[in-house]
Amino acid sequence: MEGQIIKILSNLYTVSSDGKLYECHARGKFRKDKITPTVGDYVRFDPKESYILEVLKRKNTLERPLVSNIDKCIIVTSCKEPDFSSNLLDKLLVVLECHNIEPIICLTKLDLLNNEEEKEIIEIRKYYQYIGYTVLDNTELDKIKKEIKGKTVVLTGQTGAGKSSLINKLDSSFNLATGEISKALGRGKHTTRHVELIEMFGGKVLDTPGFSSIDLKELSNEDIKNAFIEFDSFPCPFRDCMHINEKECNVIKAVENNEILESRYDNYKKFIETRR
Ligand code: ZN
Repeated sequence: MEGQIIKILSNLYTVSSDGKLYECHARGKFRKDKITPTVGDYVRFDPKESYILEVLKRKNTLERPLVSNIDKCIIVTSCKEPDFSSNLLDKLLVVLECHNIEPIICLTKLDLLNNEEEKEIIEIRKYYQYIGYTVLDNTELDKIKKEIKGKTVVLTGQTGAGKSSLINKLDSSFNLATGEISKALGRGKHTTRHVELIEMFGGKVLDTPGFSSIDLKELSNEDIKNAFIEFDSFPCPFRDCMHINEKECNVIKAVENNEILESRYDNYKKFIETRR
């Protein structure tokens, strides 16, 4: 049979297959092959002997938290308190693009904005949608549920962005599960290491505080450039143009013509510079 590992506790692997859960052990062969099954892995397993036989090819792996085969990431993005941070959002988008994870931007705290701020956020929202991203807000619960259906999803967001209240709104039982897990493991050092996929709305959602660190150092300049997906619409006359210093660069022209959002381009330059 085939299934997906949703939880690992010491050497016990919980595999979900067709809505049923199987507790399995891993064979010694994995240690020999230096394959460590992770949460999110699709595996072939023997339900009678309760053994995992094979870890199937991974689509991607995140290191912190350690989890594989993430389809989508819901980026819970605060518009106020804390203020909207294009830097944080763009950094996450780069990391997700590089891991082949589809980002879903979910705006929160729109109700705290004054008229002027609201106009600004509407423009920003339009831009991210225009370049191809799904942008929702935390009142669009049905749309968020649809995004989760049939997928393995991770939720992330800065402290105070309203991640827990979004989870609460989506499903109060999810929050209960989270609380219970935290309690069972004892608050503190263990909770942050705990990684589990919770089945909800026909998909699986990662129960974790989110990315503990975002490091662009692991990426190449080329990776970062390619992660700014709108640059492709402005092909440069130069091969391998980094769109920073070159005259006649079509990306720089597009920024000047307001076809590329200035904050996106500024963040791009910052990300490249911080790597030097
Ligand atoms: Zn260029």
